[in-house]
Amino acid sequence: MLTPALPDTCLKHLECSQTAKPADADTLQNLSPAGAPLLARYYEQQAAKTLRRSDRAGRPHSLWRYAEMLPPPGDAGPVTLDEGMTPLLAAPRLGARLGVPGLLVKDEGRNPLGSFKDRGMSVAVSMARALGARALAIPTAGNAGGSAAAYAARAGLEAHVFMPADAEAANIAECRRAGATLTLVDGYLNDCARLVAERAPEAGWFELSTFKEPYRVEGKKTLAYEIVEQLDGGIPDVILYPTGGGTGLVGMWKAFDELERLGWIAEARPRMICVQAEGCAPLVRAFEAHAATAETWENPTTKVHGLRAPRVLADRLCLSAIRESGGTAIAVADSEMRAMQDFAGATEGLSICPEGAACFAAIPELLARGDLDADERVAVFNTATALKYLT
Ligand SMILES: *Cc1c(COP(=O)(O)O)cnc(C)c1O
Repeated sequence: MLTPALPDTCLKHLECSQTAKPADADTLQNLSPAGAPLLARYYEQQAAKTLRRSDRAGRPHSLWRYAEMLPPPGDAGPVTLDEGMTPLLAAPRLGARLGVPGLLVKDEGRNPLGSFKDRGMSVAVSMARALGARALAIPTAGNAGGSAAAYAARAGLEAHVFMPADAEAANIAECRRAGATLTLVDGYLNDCARLVAERAPEAGWFELSTFKEPYRVEGKKTLAYEIVEQLDGGIPDVILYPTGGGTGLVGMWKAFDELERLGWIAEARPRMICVQAEGCAPLVRAFEAHAATAETWENPTTKVHGLRAPRVLADRLCLSAIRESGGTAIAVADSEMRAMQDFAGATEGLSICPEGAACFAAIPELLARGDLDADERVAVFNTATALKYLT
């Protein structure tokens, strides 16, 4: 179905996540003057008049169905490949084997490029184009680069992607096929980020780096809008989220506040559980140390690229979402993730990426620790399809 005309945005302004100082939303922006991520704020009372949970008729079957609570895509309309509105599947067989029969899986592998990075890129590239960007640049562990390349092509913009040289073959192929300029870097995601930051000003690129760009998190927050819509106004008791840069964690936590103000949910919140790889767990380490910020993880050893984010720019926001929600943080070994991909496939027929598998693999330990109860409704985010990881 072609995207129907969208309702107007109720975007008010951007706001520094540290100082709460407002910033203009009508120019291309990266971090705030204080060096912190900018977050979008909306006129929610106005949005609530048309964005009603019980009345979704005439809305596109994509995340743009929440247009009032997304930034304005510009006169040309959103840059969309119909991302979002992925299924929320009950997984009773896998749930029973793991000890939580009420297990739900939000299957983000069904997005256009096969990962939930598409959500952020649709919104960020729409806004970048609307504000006059010509060329986009992104440091990425893999999936964000493939998405950025595709959405840039869809928008008619240039894309410059910087990816570790050992990235998944599927991600390298996606970038090349979408006509992006791909630079393979002998290093990690933070090394790629440094190169982009050095080159972008002179080259005239607009940076789409995680949390340096204010609207990818807006795309990711629609995960929570969809779950609430799919549960008819209910919420899961617990969310298990495979965390790298933390856009989904922060985005959903922001979304639950918005949804309460929109009248879609009451004050109860899910507990947000951050799952990382043992070989790169800066947020788990900071959570356990009761720290407000996370140190860069030196020499990450995980081979699971989506979880190999040594430096977490939005560390404060991630840690406060985990703590305020009453959640926790836990690390899983790569070998457990690989084994769980096969177990979830054989038990339930699911196509699970290693990052999503990390969340399933964490469940027995969370039960043993008392961080999870067997009768709770647990939502796991399978952030990509297994087809992106064939090597
Ligand atoms: C990027 C990515 C993650 C981590 O997402 P963040 O929002 O950066 O925390 C998890 N899984 C997959 C498959 C990814 O591509």
